[in-house]
Amino acid sequence: MKTDREKIRRALAEVRAVYAELARRPIERNCTLLTECCHFKLTGLTPYLTKGEALLAAKAFRATGRKQFPERTDGACPMLHPETARCMIYEYRPFGCRTHFCPAAGGPYARRDVLDLIRRLEAIDAALGGDGARALPGAVEAALRE
Ligand code: SF4
Repeated sequence: MKTDREKIRRALAEVRAVYAELARRPIERNCTLLTECCHFKLTGLTPYLTKGEALLAAKAFRATGRKQFPERTDGACPMLHPETARCMIYEYRPFGCRTHFCPAAGGPYARRDVLDLIRRLEAIDAALGGDGARALPGAVEAALRE
């Protein structure tokens, strides 16, 4: 069932507010766009997204003029540009891309430091009729079909 536009608009605004709140937290992290964490096959780790995050990522991906993920066989994130090797949606990258394991950026956030933000994303997921966090490629692909 399609979720109505107003509900989605509000949900995306709330996801952006969560990302903005994360950026204000006094936790030192320094992503320098190494993109190592975007190579899921190499790291063995894939970010999981709630539905609001996936819808925001899909919207940002569509804004690049693309409708489908590029073909790739290296196991990297489908939103890593195949030629420039840059994230195509960096400003709207999911929570996991901002908080997970990159040692060069300072390692993973302690869960206790961001648990309230995770709960907010879970609440948005529930409000949108999602069924919890899913691995990034499938989550965004499903959001692109909405
Ligand atoms: S969404 Fe962007 S930052 Fe996150 S894994 Fe994909 S390319 Fe990397």
